[in-house]
Amino acid sequence: MRIVLPDKVKFLIEKLNQYGYEAYAVGGCVRDSLLMQKPKDWDITTSALPAQIKKVFPHTVDTGIAHGTVTVLLGREGFEVTTYRIDGEYEDARHPKDVFFTSNLYEDLKRRDFTINAMAYNDSGGLVDAFDGIGDLRKGVIRCVGDAEERFSEDALRMLRAVRFAAQLGFGIDKRTAEAIKKRSRTIQLVSAERICAELVKLLISNHPEQLLKAYETGLTSVFLPEFDDMMQTKQNHPHHCLTVGMHTVETIRHVPPQKTLRLAALFHDIAKPKCRTTDENGIHHFRGHPLKGEEMTGQIMRRLKFDNDTIRHVCKLVRYHDDNPPLSAGSIRRALNRAGQDAYPALFALKRADILSQSTFERESKLAYVDEYEKIYHDIIQKKECFTVQDLAVNGSDLIAAGMRQGKEIGETLGKLLELVLEDPAQNTKENLLEHVIK
Ligand code: ATP
Ligand code: MG
Repeated sequence: MRIVLPDKVKFLIEKLNQYGYEAYAVGGCVRDSLLMQKPKDWDITTSALPAQIKKVFPHTVDTGIAHGTVTVLLGREGFEVTTYRIDGEYEDARHPKDVFFTSNLYEDLKRRDFTINAMAYNDSGGLVDAFDGIGDLRKGVIRCVGDAEERFSEDALRMLRAVRFAAQLGFGIDKRTAEAIKKRSRTIQLVSAERICAELVKLLISNHPEQLLKAYETGLTSVFLPEFDDMMQTKQNHPHHCLTVGMHTVETIRHVPPQKTLRLAALFHDIAKPKCRTTDENGIHHFRGHPLKGEEMTGQIMRRLKFDNDTIRHVCKLVRYHDDNPPLSAGSIRRALNRAGQDAYPALFALKRADILSQSTFERESKLAYVDEYEKIYHDIIQKKECFTVQDLAVNGSDLIAAGMRQGKEIGETLGKLLELVLEDPAQNTKENLLEHVIK
């Protein structure tokens, strides 16, 4: 088994060898190389202690020195070089509370989460695979190194990582590993929101986001995203739908491009449906007000999961307007743009299409045609640089004051009225014309 190491990685390993230390590429980069995928980064594991690593290389940064990690700079590139170690209990961060250095590679591989992540490689030693990671790569399974329950009791986040890797690689989860997750799923509550959030995002933007269902089946979402479980348990008796809210949501996630905000918006777009469901006299379900209530719930959930404010704002907006269907006239669409703000576009179209494709086929063609036309008119408005916000008006507050209006809330009200005028007819947006209106 040969892996082609980048020159810089070869250099790092050879240099450490020259000083009498062992060194290997390890973890994700070995896994990805064996899968013929390009690794995101190359991590090195070595028998050298941090102080010794720093003596070998002139340019280093103490990224995680207490845990044995030194970043070695080669030109503009940084490589994490970590001493062989045995981990104590994990705490909130991504590092264990205490670590013990060892000179035995096997001990280091043993502390790693899954067999496919516990392989090391260098050109002289070849592949070091103590736990049949290669067999699991071939079979396509995520399996814990050692006893799954024990490994999850050391660090509960590994349960969600198992699902995340399954989603990224399109793998199954080994039976005993999956059973251990089921048994210990409640303990995911011990893990910090930040770590959960990072794994959830990786899962969502992966090639197989439908594996979120595995997090549901094993009981993980019931702890960190119980609102998803509510969606899974909410039926929709309606001609436009054939799936539960939860299954419809998973389909919608699959149908939007793998971008963070879009996948999150798809996850949350119907989050309030379980709370908003009513049943009419014919037994048909309705979900009135779910976009607005959904915006509120999305904000609460995302704050709980410690997302950054920018992402929260953007996702909330998409949730709020996902079901906004203005009449297909330029005026109405300029008003829609004014309501949602331009930064909701064109993401909103991707979300709307995915939503439609995840509903029943009832009226699907006409619903898609509506979005096409909506988008066409939108592009036209943008291309012509037509006004759809107060800031785009040909007059501002100072102009009104200069024209003789008194300072105060009247100014804002007047600008609002002028905007109404211009939203309907962009040709009206000249300073002369607007001031004339004000005087009248
Ligand atoms: P990615 O492509 O997402 O970076 P990766 O395999 O490199 O995948 P990292 O989170 O960067 O994953 O971790 C690097 C390596 O460290 C893993 O391959 C694994 O061997 C080990 N590791 C990371 N987190 C844990 C953990 N919580 N428990 C045990 N081992 C872990
Ligand atoms: Mg990595």
